[in-house]
Amino acid sequence: MKSKPKIGVSACLLGENVRYNRGHTQDKWLIRELGQYVDFYPFCPEVEMGLGVPREEIHLYYKDEDKEQLYLRSKFSRVELTDKAQETYQKMNGKMDKENLDGVVLMKKSPSCGLGNVKTVSEDENGSVKLLQGLYATNLEKNYPHLPKVDSGRFKNPTLREHFIKQVFAHWRFSQLDNKISALQDFHKRYKYTLMEHDQDALRELGRICANHENRSPEEVFSDYKDKFFNAMSTLASVNNRVNTLYHIMGYVKNNLASDEKKHIIDLIEEFKEGIHTYMVPLRLLRFFIEKYKVDYLENHYYFTPYPKELKLHKDL
Ligand code: SF4
Repeated sequence: MKSKPKIGVSACLLGENVRYNRGHTQDKWLIRELGQYVDFYPFCPEVEMGLGVPREEIHLYYKDEDKEQLYLRSKFSRVELTDKAQETYQKMNGKMDKENLDGVVLMKKSPSCGLGNVKTVSEDENGSVKLLQGLYATNLEKNYPHLPKVDSGRFKNPTLREHFIKQVFAHWRFSQLDNKISALQDFHKRYKYTLMEHDQDALRELGRICANHENRSPEEVFSDYKDKFFNAMSTLASVNNRVNTLYHIMGYVKNNLASDEKKHIIDLIEEFKEGIHTYMVPLRLLRFFIEKYKVDYLENHYYFTPYPKELKLHKDL
């Protein structure tokens, strides 16, 4: 059992001097803030390949006739590194499986680690450039489709950063469940309103899966649930879904509220819809009334505490 989530991180983001030029790309927020609430598992695919530090820079290439196949080569001496890279990734995956990770933060734009926007040069004479995904990131997407992933560029965006951290804590909580259907049903109940924010169809489908009226084995139910849960969580919460969820939550206290209190909450929700402030403003007020009127059903729902509030995820970096 892990006492906190564990996140795989491109080692250069943790300040390790593993870049081709012996430098790093340290992300201070990652280390100083997030590091208090998660454990890190650093990796550097290019060092694992034995390329050394410093090393010749490498680039990603594609051929016009087969755009699916990517090639990794050293930039000037053009040494072919693709097979060596794939072999290395297999070994890295073996080690990573043992770490039981809850998410991965990858260095942006790297030919190995970049999740997107990686400069990829055509092998053909025209030498045109596309923006694709790094080779190691592609391997991770293929082998760990449900693992939350973000790159260091998206991580600077408060909305995308919060979305990633929310998924990481959900992944960690899911990994703590014992193999009982009742534990999964409790998890589902506690994530009900979070799911409502992300994907309302998935919320209904997941409720049906964990109700398990077909009496399937726990292994089958957990696997099906995990698949659909993390798929739903990977979609950003839309404004409309958030508004709908806030009104649902308001339904639990509306009979206790004076008409001016009710109006105030509705105004805050509508102002969130217009973009005047974040969804945290009406949510915080609703939480106050839920605690005041002791709405037992909502006690322990992760909707209110998806991650430690001390992470201050709504603060600009
Ligand atoms: S981006 Fe990836 S491969 Fe490049 S130095 Fe950082 S960890 Fe290593």
